[in-house]
Amino acid sequence: MRLRNITGSRDVIAASDYVVQEELQPRCPGTWKEIFGNDNPIHIEIGMGKGKFIHTMAKEHPEINYVGIEKYSSVLLRAIQKMEQEELPNLKFLRMDAENINQVFGAGEVDRIYLNFSDPWPKDRHAKRRLPSREFLARYDVILKKDGRLEFKTDNRELFDFAVEELEPAGWKAQVVTYDLHSDASLMEGNVMTEYEEKFSSMGNPICKYIIVR
Ligand code: SAM
Repeated sequence: MRLRNITGSRDVIAASDYVVQEELQPRCPGTWKEIFGNDNPIHIEIGMGKGKFIHTMAKEHPEINYVGIEKYSSVLLRAIQKMEQEELPNLKFLRMDAENINQVFGAGEVDRIYLNFSDPWPKDRHAKRRLPSREFLARYDVILKKDGRLEFKTDNRELFDFAVEELEPAGWKAQVVTYDLHSDASLMEGNVMTEYEEKFSSMGNPICKYIIVR
């Protein structure tokens, strides 16, 4: 995912209809139904990378609207290229730092949040930057519907243990916790592999997953 200097990625993004442009982002809260032109539920992936997971999900679930969020233009470019090959009406992208997620979704506007193989930020002083940290859970708490859920997958056991420990202080509880997703036939039903999941599971790393609610 270190592709940050592709020439022209910002220009491609600025010209793309698949992306909700930065200057329009302040107008997004409360208007996602209008953006998609229907009342379907909204599921988001934060830190989508090149978009393999969310593109596949959007293709398999046309009755759901998906929003993929990615910080880096050069990575988002790859998700845009995938959409150019196979356009889907129920998938949009945002180039932004998820720290500002509350500026683009209104209270209770999101039905489900996916975090997949989030960056670990191993230094203690960077714990607040981890996407499953209590600081981020507080942001998700606002935008996620009352009965909505958040699903997190990673092969990084330290990050996963941290994420599980964050739940109680942040006021969330686990519905599902597994330390070996790929050995659990019922949890694997409908599982869509992310790019990182394919890479790390093929190296023999067990995949951890939780599903959490408030
Ligand atoms: N989810 C993909 C997967 O499982 O294959 C990509 C995983 S990659 C390790 C993490 C991605 O999250 C990177 O593309 C990174 O740029 C993005 N990311 C990290 N922190 C972010 C943030 N605060 N806001 C938006 N994207 C972020």
